[in-house]
Formats: sequence, structure tokens, C-alpha cells
Amino acid sequence: MIIIENKQALKQLLDTERSKGKSIGFVPTMGALHAGHASLVEQSIKENDITVVSIFVNPTQFNDKNDLANYPRTLEADAKLLETLGAQIAFAPTAEEMYPEPDNRQFEYSPQTDVMEGPRRPGHFNGVCQIVSKLFYAVEPTRAYFGEKDYQQIAVVRRMVEDLQIPVSIVSCPIVREKSGLAMSSRNTHLTEEERELATNIYRILSYSKFYATNHSVEETKRMVTDMLNALSGLEVEYFEIADGITLQSITSWEQTDNIVGCITVYCGKIPIRLIDNIRYK
Ligand code: AMP
Repeated sequence: MIIIENKQALKQLLDTERSKGKSIGFVPTMGALHAGHASLVEQSIKENDITVVSIFVNPTQFNDKNDLANYPRTLEADAKLLETLGAQIAFAPTAEEMYPEPDNRQFEYSPQTDVMEGPRRPGHFNGVCQIVSKLFYAVEPTRAYFGEKDYQQIAVVRRMVEDLQIPVSIVSCPIVREKSGLAMSSRNTHLTEEERELATNIYRILSYSKFYATNHSVEETKRMVTDMLNALSGLEVEYFEIADGITLQSITSWEQTDNIVGCITVYCGKIPIRLIDNIRYK
């Protein structure tokens, strides 16, 4: 596997492969790779001739400077994992390489950016669109792989690709969980053993809510999930929305649409770690 830091060098290499008719799979990440990322890489390897994985902690998508400073950076271990998986290229640029000049582009994809993470993390999706578009222009992938853990992110990226007419197909991949059910996340490394155990209640209660939903209303289901989690000391629900899986707008009845997702954000622990998860109802 080759590690490349420079856009121009990456382009040259990929142009050569493209001229031979090779397909290019792309997995954008912020590093601190775990089995969730690995599943995306494995799927890309299966479906493409060349797999490029980017490792870049994108400053423009962090609205909290502390969060950016504390984000785990483990390039050496990440490179080892990618090598073992069989990815061909790791693209690990510097911030100067990706942002030689400030990016003043503004992306707003209403209604998907108006809800959930949108208003709570001002500028987050704008930063995601800035970096993902730049990476798409640099890599020109045939297919790009995203995890359903960041459900809203996929919806926003799909809107951006349509808007900018970028010729890439977006592939969404299922959430990879620990044995305990906790959705894998780079942020889990900040949890103590005890908090990690506590956090398993998120998926446990989300899973239970699928049964509960069969004979309760949307409102009752939302309340049950929120109340059960908030009753546990050390957990605090920021939001739990049951929404249309495409528009991400809240629904009020299970019959309203046939694509329904429940998206949750929970603060866990003494120094609260923000955990996100979601579940599909239909
Ligand atoms: P990140 O490095 O957190 O920006 O994530 C990079 C990609 O990996 C995103 O598309 C995430 O949705 C995806 N991802 C992160 N955690 C998981 C997981 N537990 N299961 C599946 N995909 C994941």
C-alpha cells in the first residue's frame, strides 16, 4: 500500500489506473480506524479494482475546537490496518494541502440539513460538504462508501453529489457494532469501561423500541426511548427523532411513509462523550 500526501501525485497515479479502465473505490475517513471503517474498505475492495482510503481530520466540520484538538490521531496503526485489509492507497494530506486557501463555499441542503445534527452543530455539514467535494474532485472515484452510522451525513452527501453533478455512486454500508451492541466509533476510546457498558443501553433500548412500535404510536415510542435512557444515570438524550428516511423530517404516524429511521444522540459519562446511533423501523 502507498501513502500519498499530495493531491497532484494522487491524481497522476489514479489517472494512470483510470486509463487502463480500472474502477476506483473511495472511503473517506478521519482515521482512528476501527472495524466499522474496515467494513467499508472491505466492501470497496470487493467492488472495485483500486481502493483509496483518505485519512484526514477535517477542521472545517468541527464546530468545537476542543473536539478537534482531542480527536484521536493514529496514522501508523491506521496504515497497518489498511495494508492488512488490502487497500492500495492511503491518502493522508495536510490541512494546507486540502485548504491552500480558505474555502468560502456554502452548502445548505434543506430540508436534510435543517434538522437533528444540522442546527445542533452549526457549520458541520457545510464542512463535510467542503471536504467531501474536494476529496471527490481529487480522487474522482467510481464509487464512494459511507457508513449508515452517520445516517444524516449520507443523506446530505447524496444531495451534494446531485447538486454538483459529481459522477460517483454513493454506497451506504450497515452499522458495525461491538458484541455489546454499541455502535463502533472513534469516540468510544474516550469512554471508561463503565461508561462503555452504560452506553450499550442505547442500542438495547433502540432495538426494544422496534417491538414497542408495533403497538404504540410514534409519539409514545419517542417518549419511551427518551425516558428509558434519561432514567439511567450518566446518560442524557440530546434528541431522538423518528423521521422519514429520505427527507429526515419527523413523522407523526407509522403509516406516513415506508422508509422510517430513528436517529438518536446521547451524551454519555462524566466528561460527556456525544454518541450517535440510529435504527430502521421500516
Ligand atoms: P469517520 O472517520 O468517523 O468520519 O467515519 C468515516 C466513515 O466510516 C463514515 O462514512 C462513517 O459513517 C463510517 N463509520 C464510522 N463508524 C462506523 C460504524 N460503526 N459502522 C459503519 N460505518 C461506520
